[in-house]
Amino acid sequence: MFPDLEIPTIILLFGDKIPNHLVLHSLLGAATIGTVLSILVTVLVYPPLVSSLFRIEKSKIERRCRLSAILVFSAFLGNISHVGLDVVVHIENAIFWPFLTNIQSPVVSALGVQNASLMIHALMGAIFLMLLIKKRTNLFEGLLVE
Ligand SMILES: [Zn+2]
Repeated sequence: MFPDLEIPTIILLFGDKIPNHLVLHSLLGAATIGTVLSILVTVLVYPPLVSSLFRIEKSKIERRCRLSAILVFSAFLGNISHVGLDVVVHIENAIFWPFLTNIQSPVVSALGVQNASLMIHALMGAIFLMLLIKKRTNLFEGLLVE
């Protein structure tokens, strides 16, 4: 999700004069800036926010959100997979920014925007449903902390 924070930021700063999928939607930006920002938010913001919103013990969340190799890898993987999924959904992508900009998605070109979007959303919905079923006994803590 982190790469999508650049969309409102770019729109607020530049309007529609430049593409709103740019640095954080590139492999380079997602792997570096996106990963670092995700780690900072996970360590500093996530525990107090989730603890107050969902009444989950803050120390339990802080233990799971400590800086570790697993956290770094998870943040990296989350950002890279976001960029990879966006290539399937959006017709124009900055995945190879700054070397190449505005790459046409081969998936969207082949299936059309609606079918590509439907395919990704169905896949994400199925994964979310499986998580809901697996974590149903302690839903919020299972989804947000474990
Ligand atoms: Zn995105």
